[in-house]
Amino acid sequence: MITNITVVGGTHGNETSGIQLVRNWQRFGVPAAYQALNIDCYLSNQAAIDANVRFLEEDLNRQFTPALLNKQPQSQEARLAHALNQHWGPKGSSEIDLMIDIHNTTSAMGATLIILEADEFHTQLARYVKQQMPEANILVEDEKPYAEHGYLCTLGQRGIMIEVGAQPQGVLRADVYELTHKMALAILDFVLLYNSNSVPALPPCDVFRFIENITFPLDEQGERLAMIHPALQDSDFKPLTQGDPVFTTFSGQVEQWQGDTIYPHFINEAAYHKLHVAFATATKAQL
Ligand SMILES: [Zn+2]
Repeated sequence: MITNITVVGGTHGNETSGIQLVRNWQRFGVPAAYQALNIDCYLSNQAAIDANVRFLEEDLNRQFTPALLNKQPQSQEARLAHALNQHWGPKGSSEIDLMIDIHNTTSAMGATLIILEADEFHTQLARYVKQQMPEANILVEDEKPYAEHGYLCTLGQRGIMIEVGAQPQGVLRADVYELTHKMALAILDFVLLYNSNSVPALPPCDVFRFIENITFPLDEQGERLAMIHPALQDSDFKPLTQGDPVFTTFSGQVEQWQGDTIYPHFINEAAYHKLHVAFATATKAQL
């Protein structure tokens, strides 16, 4: 049974669609159809929300690894992570059955459901969401064990993320909000079916499985030498094959993709600026 659900917005303080959905549900109530569920709506990084920034000192959504939770916190977000771990956790023995953390991205990823495990529950959830929202993308980040992730949602016994784009930081777009809302309702609908053992037989669905992050070409001083090629920009989850343009350098050259066909996502995500991450890669699979 999935009884206790926590819906979180504002883990990144300038990702407005999740913040607004949580505020609306706090103010007007969660839709009556979900009365049977104990749903808590929560804004996780209020200081970052007030400042309309992703974070004040460190990315809150990377602070929840077992190693960091066992270390003396050094930043505001690390201290917040420790407090949330006390409040909701401790990680691994939380009473929250499902944590849904809502994000948005400047990349054109559409409505993306990020799952961190490919077990029976998450497989059925992915298939159901895909059936209800054929336009949705399912991103599987199971390259490491669930508990090893630093994501806030891993405080729950199960944790998933809604990631919708493209939406500029600090801006609320109605189309992105609508997709976010639709995916949140699809997830809650699934939980009701799951709890009453009435999940219908669902066909396998296409998913994207994370491989690695690709960084921009840099010189010895760490200055960027290129930008995303126009052909790759906004082509999230479309196949990128050997020879396809990836970067256009500031000296006017085109750098091509070398290697197997992959599915890029988080292309030119603004928040990955400091890390120089140009995009992430994935394989396409069935779940
Ligand atoms: Zn985010």
